[in-house]
Amino acid sequence: SGIINNETFRSTCSYCGVGCGITITLQPEGKITVEGDKDHPVNHGMLCSKGMNLHYTVNDTSDRLLYPTMRYSKNLPKKRVSWDQALDRTAAVFQSIIEKFGPESVAFYVSGQCLTEEYYLWNKLMKGFIKGNNIDTNSRLCMSSAVVGYKKTLGEDSVPVCYDDIELSDCLLIEGGNPAWCHPIIWRRVEAHKEANPDVKIICLDPRKTQTAASSDLHIALLPGTDVYFNNALGRELIANGFTDQEFIDKNTDGYKEYETEVFSKTTEEYAELCGVNPEDIRQTAQWIGRSKGFLSMWTMGLNQSAIGVQKNLSLISLSLITGKIGKPGNGPFSLTGQPNAMGGREVGGLSNMLASHRELSNPQHIAEMESFWGVSGISNKPGLSATEMIDALENGKLKAIWIVCTNPLVSLPNLNKVEKALKKAAFVVVQDISSNSDTLAFADVVLPAAAWAEKEGTMTNAERRVSLLQKAIEAPGEALPDSEIICRFAEKMGWGNSFRYSSPAEIYDEYAQSTVGTNIDCSGINYSLLKKGPVQWPYPKGSNSTSRLFENNAFYTPNKKAQLIPVSGVNTSEGTTKEFPLVLLTGRIRDQWHTQTKTAKVNRLNQHKKSPFLQLNPKDAAERKIKNGQLVSVKGKRGEVRVKVEITEEVRSGTCFMPMHWGKILQSDLARANNLTSDLVDPISKEPDFKFSAVQVSLY
Ligand code: SF4
Repeated sequence: SGIINNETFRSTCSYCGVGCGITITLQPEGKITVEGDKDHPVNHGMLCSKGMNLHYTVNDTSDRLLYPTMRYSKNLPKKRVSWDQALDRTAAVFQSIIEKFGPESVAFYVSGQCLTEEYYLWNKLMKGFIKGNNIDTNSRLCMSSAVVGYKKTLGEDSVPVCYDDIELSDCLLIEGGNPAWCHPIIWRRVEAHKEANPDVKIICLDPRKTQTAASSDLHIALLPGTDVYFNNALGRELIANGFTDQEFIDKNTDGYKEYETEVFSKTTEEYAELCGVNPEDIRQTAQWIGRSKGFLSMWTMGLNQSAIGVQKNLSLISLSLITGKIGKPGNGPFSLTGQPNAMGGREVGGLSNMLASHRELSNPQHIAEMESFWGVSGISNKPGLSATEMIDALENGKLKAIWIVCTNPLVSLPNLNKVEKALKKAAFVVVQDISSNSDTLAFADVVLPAAAWAEKEGTMTNAERRVSLLQKAIEAPGEALPDSEIICRFAEKMGWGNSFRYSSPAEIYDEYAQSTVGTNIDCSGINYSLLKKGPVQWPYPKGSNSTSRLFENNAFYTPNKKAQLIPVSGVNTSEGTTKEFPLVLLTGRIRDQWHTQTKTAKVNRLNQHKKSPFLQLNPKDAAERKIKNGQLVSVKGKRGEVRVKVEITEEVRSGTCFMPMHWGKILQSDLARANNLTSDLVDPISKEPDFKFSAVQVSLY
């Protein structure tokens, strides 16, 4: 069972994509304690504040959903029902909607916190059996621009580097991320490396002076939305100063001439002006990158959550390609995953435009392979709805039923007033969650209680392609069930039981692993017996070994094996600021809270850091509005309003303001939700929302 002894189990932290190893020890009365796993290759025993306090989220069951509930009409209260009653009704409603309106009238909205086995089953159910493709994940809000960036340049959604490259690098460029708060154990490794090697250079590109910026050698506070200009300026400087690797470019890339033409279309001074930065900072950064032996770029939501998120990714990855700094120890573009299993979800086809094992809906051969693998026919090649498109489709009535799993869109999606209206219009809403503090429950017709971390078994893949096993240590409270069991019971009710009967999560993983044979993410050599000895990195075909780094042979995953340099101009298409709404609102996370707080708000220690929602405003903007520190302000935009206390600080540059995204209606109030204000524009390719650029006005309330 993977038990170290009768009372201690190995697992992985269920918060961020760093994927720290944890040991769980049983305590009397079904309680647990946690410690960092000293033998784990990611964290070597370290945990951040969230991971250290993970046991409180399991030990305190006061908020847990304990049994299924259901209402027969929107006006009636929900009542306790049995699992059979809840799933019989859900299956009957789904069947009748599908019969009447087709498979595209139902949707599943799942989560980067689902285990790989669960994710695989949801996809099998929707794509193989319901035969629609409306299954999307909250990873759409997080990683989808990076996915497209990697696919377009390297030929596959494949992070080419590993964490051990941190200690082998001597120049780290952090763009649009605050790993010191959001990926703390990675950042501790970066800090330790810098401390031991003071010549290592760290550059942080972020409009905000974050903790990461404060501990970097150079912080460049560019204007929001201008990252592509900055990266193109770096490309220009690298070329102009002879820092490119011409042999690598000639042999292993396409598109260099077009790329060069684009980046030389402006001078460094012009780029600097557009970015609102000092041109010398661009030159200095290019010198450090150019002279380095190991150049790692790291990025997260500042690049991804943007109306031009794909362009931002392409412009950054290009810097590794023109310098040939990829596929070598200490080098490469490293997208830091937000959620613990965003990568595992993508492996099994978690986005509405993908099939299992990174197969594409647009590829008839891929469809035929999965039809034969699942023993079905008629998989649709039409991409399903993305997360925000599901909301639009609920609003316009095309989507009738939605099943929301392990995510709380009434706090996390952009433009919440619209989300609320859309969910009100839905004919049928199922919410499957662990917590009664999810705002989305208010709109549910059926509520299904799920087992939480440590109450079920399965795998996750972290940001460096490392697959870990999470052991079940304790029983779920009440009648809560593991998500995989809920899916299989539902499939049985829909008449597909023969294809959804598994004796254990290990068997589900084996089926998924078999579906990867022959693909670039082949993990047919991975099974639970292997994972019990420790986590491994894919690709891992049967009979081979764990792969730390990709492209060491310079053979990329594109059809001609060459990486693609794709020129991008970077004109920002976010909503503009106006006289009425002159400030740019940035949203993000704080150190000790996780997403919509349904877990972290239960932990007193984590609530000490920042007790309530706030808006950060620059002193100049505050003075113009006669606003003093700590006063209550109203923040208004085209879509809504929030009222919070103001924190006046130089951490945000003038013309911008910042608000954390964590607070919702249940845990605070409807006027505490940053996403009342956020723009629902999305990147045209990745469909990732533009969370980092919303026009607002701030005034004293
Ligand atoms: Fe958990 Fe991430 Fe903290 Fe590691 S860094 S303990 S994975 S929240």
